[in-house]
Amino acid sequence: MANKADFGVFIGRFQPLHIGHEHVIRQALDQVKRLIVLVGSANVARDPRNPFTFDERAAMIRSSFAYEMAEGRVMVEPLHDHLYSDTAWVAEVQRRVNAIVLDAGNGGGFQAAGLRDFRVALTGYGKDASSYYLKLFPEWDNIQIDSQYGTFSSTDVRNRFFQRIPEVPVSILSSGVAKWMDDFKLGENFRALLEEAEYLADYPKQWGTGPFVTADAVVIQSGHILLIERGQTPGKGLLALPGGFVEAGERIRDGAIRELREETGIADSKGQIPPAMLASFIEDSRTRVFDAPNRSLRGRIITHAFLFRLPERRKLFKVKGADDAAHASWYRLGDLTSDMLFEDHWSIIEQMADL
Ligand code: NAD
Repeated sequence: MANKADFGVFIGRFQPLHIGHEHVIRQALDQVKRLIVLVGSANVARDPRNPFTFDERAAMIRSSFAYEMAEGRVMVEPLHDHLYSDTAWVAEVQRRVNAIVLDAGNGGGFQAAGLRDFRVALTGYGKDASSYYLKLFPEWDNIQIDSQYGTFSSTDVRNRFFQRIPEVPVSILSSGVAKWMDDFKLGENFRALLEEAEYLADYPKQWGTGPFVTADAVVIQSGHILLIERGQTPGKGLLALPGGFVEAGERIRDGAIRELREETGIADSKGQIPPAMLASFIEDSRTRVFDAPNRSLRGRIITHAFLFRLPERRKLFKVKGADDAAHASWYRLGDLTSDMLFEDHWSIIEQMADL
């Protein structure tokens, strides 16, 4: 036990947990006293790439490691994405790990050792470019994992699962996870995700693969943000920034203003606000490109976000009501949670509104 690290850290999305992940967890458990499993992308709305919630993925891990979890050898915690700030994400990983190390390492408060008294090591297999994050924690030791276990990935499992006749590939899932997915395929959430997966599979046939250019409006007034509720797949029922595809012959900034007017009908006491006046509210120094390659499952969509800071007022500007096709409303920033928002719009708001 002497040369074992006190804590191991294993980060993953586990969408879903498969026997490759379980192999890594078992190998890590041979080399550390306790393993912290951080379940990434814990704060995003369901979509075909992130179909299962944090609680559902924690239940999958529990079904395979019930004994180790009861013993306190495996601990499972959620981890939020901050898509446009690796620094914020790394800080969140560090905070989560610090809290567990201090709590579990001190037997729930019975001892008073400091962080430096515990050796922490990170595990994970550098499967592709998306595993670059394994290099972001130089302060921790490394747990070496031999190699990729098998040839499969969670993507393969999802591709087989989201079909009219869903396949649960039992050869690469442990029995608890397979059983859980078998039940899931009969529920309402599966139906909605399948509809979305079918729409996304057709998208490139209809529109091509891009890159596409879009413009989004981040409109802030007196602690509120202006959002629309999506009426159609993808992301039906989720909240989104007003915005859309830039038209041929149109400047990107003008596209943002046009979409904002069309989708929200934003108006003051004199009626709909003219484009030139809306333009005067834009803080040009804050305009930013948001280009995470996976930000949309429709294809490569690069968006430009514009910050419209409207004058602070007791009465917010008027927007179209719930009876319109695009249902626009003001939301108090403090009332929103990231899983209420479409694609990466929460991560965009975090950056643009300095949350
Ligand atoms: P994953 O579930 O695909 O993989 C988890 C780990 O298991 C990886 O180390 C992977 O290499 C390993 N693995 C997968 N299949 C394996 C197999 N067959 N054999 C052996 N090992 C295997 O998860 P991921 O995509 O690597 O998860 C990273 C998480 O961190 C995501 O949630 C991501 O959003 C998050 N993240 C966020 C930010 C940010 O918000 N700025 C930055 C980096 C990472």
